[in-house]
Amino acid sequence: MQGDCLSRRMKCTDMDKERKLQEHHRVYAEVDLDAIRENMQEMKKTLPLKTRLIGVVKADGYGHGAVPVARAIDPFVAGYAVATAEEALLLRRHKIEKPVLILGPVHESRYGELIAQEIRPVMFSREEMEGFSREAAKAGKKAALHLAVDTGMSRIGMKPDEASADMVQEMTELPSIVLEGIFTHFATADEADKAKTEKQIERFSHFLELLKVRGVDIPVKHCANSAGIIDRLGTELTWARAGIAMYGLYPSDEVKKEQVRLRPALALKSYITWMKTIEAGDEVSYGGTYRADERKTIATIPVGYGDGYPRNLSGKGEVLICGKRAPILGRVCMDQMMVDVSHIGGVKKGDAVTLIGRDKEEEILVEDLARAGGGFHYEILCNLGKRIPRIYYLQGKAVGKKDYFEDLYTDFL
Ligand SMILES: *Cc1c(COP(=O)(O)O)cnc(C)c1O
Repeated sequence: MQGDCLSRRMKCTDMDKERKLQEHHRVYAEVDLDAIRENMQEMKKTLPLKTRLIGVVKADGYGHGAVPVARAIDPFVAGYAVATAEEALLLRRHKIEKPVLILGPVHESRYGELIAQEIRPVMFSREEMEGFSREAAKAGKKAALHLAVDTGMSRIGMKPDEASADMVQEMTELPSIVLEGIFTHFATADEADKAKTEKQIERFSHFLELLKVRGVDIPVKHCANSAGIIDRLGTELTWARAGIAMYGLYPSDEVKKEQVRLRPALALKSYITWMKTIEAGDEVSYGGTYRADERKTIATIPVGYGDGYPRNLSGKGEVLICGKRAPILGRVCMDQMMVDVSHIGGVKKGDAVTLIGRDKEEEILVEDLARAGGGFHYEILCNLGKRIPRIYYLQGKAVGKKDYFEDLYTDFL
C-alpha cells in the first residue's frame, strides 16, 4: 500500500519514504511548496512594509491542498481566508492557529463552533451580529468578526451609506463581539482599466470616514485581492488577501505581470498506458469526431474529465511527451484520452506525460488550457479531482502526500 510508511509512522529511511511518495502509475499532481513561498515573498516585496498578507486557501487551496499550503506559508502571513465554516474548521483541526477568516456568509447554526475555535466570520446585518453576540455570550467569550462592505460587486456586504454606518455604530455596543476587521472585494481589479476599482476604493474610504465621524475605528482593514496586490490597488491597508497569485498564476493577462514574478506551483503528470497505429479513415474516441487522414501513431493517457481535466479540451488541448507537444485527438473521455505522437520519435508505453507543467523546453500553463478550451484558469485548478493524489515538494524533495483514496468511510451502513 502506498503511504503506509507515513500513516503507520513506521521507521523508514528518507529514501524509502521519498520513493513511496512518488510511486504512482496513473496520474498525480506535484505541488511545489517552495514556489508558493517564493510567490509570497515576491508579493511581500511589492506591498508597503506595514501591509500583512492573508493566504486565501478556500476550495482546498485552489486544488493544491489547503492544509499543506497553509503550513508552508505560515511565516509569510498574518492569517488565512477560506470560503466556508467547514474549510475554517479543517484548518483548526490541523492545529493552524493564526486568525482564520470566512469570506462567505455562514449559517447561524455554526456560530457556536466558530466562537469556540476563534474563527472570524464576515457579517453585514444587524441580525447576524446580534445572533453572534448572543452565542458568544453563552460561551462566555468575546468573538471577533469582520464587516463586509459592498462597494460594487453586489455579492455580499452592507451598502457604504449613512444607515449602515449608524447600524455599525450601534453594533459596537453589543457586549460579546469585537468588530475586528472591515473589508470589501474588487470586481474588476484584474482589468487594464482601473476606473471601477478606484471607484470601489473611494466608496470604501468614504465609508471608513462615515464610521470615523461616529467614533468607530475598526483596526483591521483590507480590500486587495491578487490583482490588487500585483497592480498596487488598495494595498495601503492592514491586510491584503492573496489567492491565485500565491499559487503562481496571474489573475488575468491584463495585470502588470512584470511587477511580481510568479512561478506556478502545480504540475499534473501521468504516463502512457497504451500505444497504437491507426490508418487513414480510422476514428478516435466517442462520436468519432476525429478521423485520421493518414497513418498515425497515437498514445492513450489514463486521465479524463473524471479527474477534472476539462472535456472542453477535446480536440483542442495538448500534453507534453518527451519534451514535445502532443495534441489531443477526439473527445476527452471520463478516464482516458488519446493524443497524437506521430511526430515524436521513440515514444513508448510507460513514458511520462505532462498535462500541466514543464517538460524540457516546453511548458503548458493552466492559462493555456483555459484559453484553448474557453475555460477559466481558477476553475481548472479547483476542479482537479480527488482521484489525483497530491505530492508535496520542499527543497526539491518529496515530503508528503495526500491521497483521497486513503480517506475511510466509517460505520454508517
Ligand atoms: C477568492 C477571494 C479572494 C482571492 O482572490 P484572488 O483573485 O484569487 O486573489 C480575495 N477576497 C475574497 C473576498 C475572495 O472571495
